[in-house]
Amino acid sequence: MTAGPTREMLDPVRFITNLSTGEMGYAIAREAKEKGFQVTLISGPTALAPPRGIRFVPVVTVSDLERQLRRHFPKTDLLFMSAAVGDFLPVRFASKKVRRQKRWKVEFRQSPDLVKGVAKMRKHQIVIGFSLETSRWIERSRKKRIAKGLDGIVANYYSRRRSPFGKNRVQVALIDGEGSRVLGLQSKSALARRLVRWAVKLGELSKN
Ligand code: C5P
Repeated sequence: MTAGPTREMLDPVRFITNLSTGEMGYAIAREAKEKGFQVTLISGPTALAPPRGIRFVPVVTVSDLERQLRRHFPKTDLLFMSAAVGDFLPVRFASKKVRRQKRWKVEFRQSPDLVKGVAKMRKHQIVIGFSLETSRWIERSRKKRIAKGLDGIVANYYSRRRSPFGKNRVQVALIDGEGSRVLGLQSKSALARRLVRWAVKLGELSKN
């Protein structure tokens, strides 16, 4: 499991991150543990307590997450990649605190696509990704599943009225090789149960 946001420092005291709270990933980790899986949770900085009885690996940056993912992935059967990996990395890090000034231009470059990278290394593993879109969510997520080489993708639609962040109930679509199913609005713990069942089914299908 990966969960939570990543964080990149711009100077010694400032950083760029995103709104991910880790709730979805932690709910899946708890559910998988309850179903008898041995769970490793690689998590970016969140306000949540690590679930009991699992291996917890804290990370901060995209590069930390990449290192830990590559280290743990070969030993797993199933990856839920729910971390909100930062898409942009600061080109420069200012080693001294940047002084207050009228403008400060910060340049970013694209980060590596971590889940695409590990999906390429896989042998028997099932890999499930997540996606958040503000328009054409099903179509874009469907393309993303194929481009990243995933077995399944959990598509979230974001609007100001219906934000999937935090403890909110969520409406998602599950997309796999068979097609897509839009699920009803539900809590993240109920969705976690559904996602673990789905992943187990995808694992069984891949053996046939
Ligand atoms: O491309 P996009 O960010 O929408 O894809 C989301 C999925 O890809 C999530 O599963 C996320 O964990 C993963 N991702 C990644 N590396 C990135 C960006 C996203 O693994 N740099």
